[in-house]
Amino acid sequence: MNNIDHKDFEAVIGLEVHAQLLTQSKAFAPVAAQYGQAPNTQISPLCLGHPGTLPLVNENLIRYIIKMGLATNCSIAPKSIFARKNYFYPDLPKGYQISQFETPICEGGYIDIEVERYSKCIGITRIHMEEDAGKSIHDQDPYNTLVDLNRAGTPLIEIVSEPDLRTPEEAYAYLSKIKQIVQYLEICDGNMEEGSLRCDANVSVRPRGSKKFGTRTELKNMNSFRNVEKAIDFEIYRQIELIEAGGKVVQQTLLWDTIKMETRIMRSKEEAHDYRYFPEPDLPPIIVTKELLDSIKEELPELAHIRQQRFVEQYHLSVIDAITLTENRYLADFFEELVSKSGQVKASVSLVLSDVLRVLNEQSITIQDFPLSATRLAELLDLRASDKVSSTAKQTIFNAMLEQGCSAQELAEKLNLLQVSDSNYMDDLVKQVIEANPDEAARYKEGKKQLMGFFVGQVMKASKGKANPKMANELVRKYLD
Ligand code: ADP
Ligand code: MG
Repeated sequence: MNNIDHKDFEAVIGLEVHAQLLTQSKAFAPVAAQYGQAPNTQISPLCLGHPGTLPLVNENLIRYIIKMGLATNCSIAPKSIFARKNYFYPDLPKGYQISQFETPICEGGYIDIEVERYSKCIGITRIHMEEDAGKSIHDQDPYNTLVDLNRAGTPLIEIVSEPDLRTPEEAYAYLSKIKQIVQYLEICDGNMEEGSLRCDANVSVRPRGSKKFGTRTELKNMNSFRNVEKAIDFEIYRQIELIEAGGKVVQQTLLWDTIKMETRIMRSKEEAHDYRYFPEPDLPPIIVTKELLDSIKEELPELAHIRQQRFVEQYHLSVIDAITLTENRYLADFFEELVSKSGQVKASVSLVLSDVLRVLNEQSITIQDFPLSATRLAELLDLRASDKVSSTAKQTIFNAMLEQGCSAQELAEKLNLLQVSDSNYMDDLVKQVIEANPDEAARYKEGKKQLMGFFVGQVMKASKGKANPKMANELVRKYLD
């Protein structure tokens, strides 16, 4: 299925992305916001909604969201306010989340996305801050639902796109770009599977050529990039089939069922929450001064597209290689560390793009979990560059390093892969080979230079693969030319 080819209908998609911020402490309370801690160990009276507690804004929450706004070309409001979003749920002891409603801090931005055959600009309607709720746990006690409030009050940003996306592929590319930006800014780890990046998709269809939007549904519960793409694809077709059969799309919130691979109803428009937003009375407005804005601008790192251009210019990479290497900030960091430690650009590019990426794919890990450091890999590149090992041996050592974690030199010795470049040894070996093959030697002297391969091959064989082939080549020439 690919809706881009549907001749009568066009899809309209807008995404709402939540990103968990990597601040040390919670959004409005001086308590740690680390993940993976024992349940209910990171809570304060404020997270529990005790009367008389007062929120205090975490300054990094403001800095991080402004970074995101600047990186996505938004205008930053000089003055914005917090709002209360009221609803009842057991994992929300306060009975409301502090959020932003009428005056988000970032508005009117855009990002460029690249899809296979084209690139496109996607509008960012707004980015606002809010705090997360706790977590209800249904599967640990057979009789009760448990609640863990460690997450209550941890900071989030919500990035709302314009309805500018038209295909599931574009939605995928948009989401990838958002992930790339938050990772480059180091404000969120961007892990969708673990929930630090979450995405709701709004989907509608309309007849091609129509200017009016159709009725939309909202998809939730998609916990991977591929699921977002699949769920949107499924939903577009469901809506088209419904309309073609004479039906009408109803505004609903749908859940993506990852097992059945279909969407199902969570709630209809009538059941939609009325959050009764009102300005948060316990927090003053956020004033963004020019000094604050300037200091945040100074902190902005080199973003992917700039880094990509630099890679092309500085390292003379192809655009494709530069894109692949800068796609992930940490992969780009790893590559640059390898280049600076080994002093070898070409060998570093090929080691990272073919060998390191292959291992990451095979083991489904990220570069942060890659077992070998750039220093270790630089030692391997040095061994090869100084001709101490052959290129085949380099490959063997790389694989062995992954398993055993020793240094390249140690493994080269242990696996008996060091090339012998000792000149006395090589000289004797080449002389022996020539003596043992007088016919070939005579033919070589008569001009059959293709026999060079034969002689080098014999030398390699006699040395059990350890001779330095370049040296063998030079010595054969010395004795026969
Ligand atoms: P809500 O407050 O209900 O979430 P918003 O107006 O904030 O609604 O829109 C949420 C998202 O839905 C935005 O990303 C927006 O681009 C998208 N959207 C709005 N209308 C449509 C539509 N008709 N089809 C698809 N997406 C839409
Ligand atoms: Mg919404």
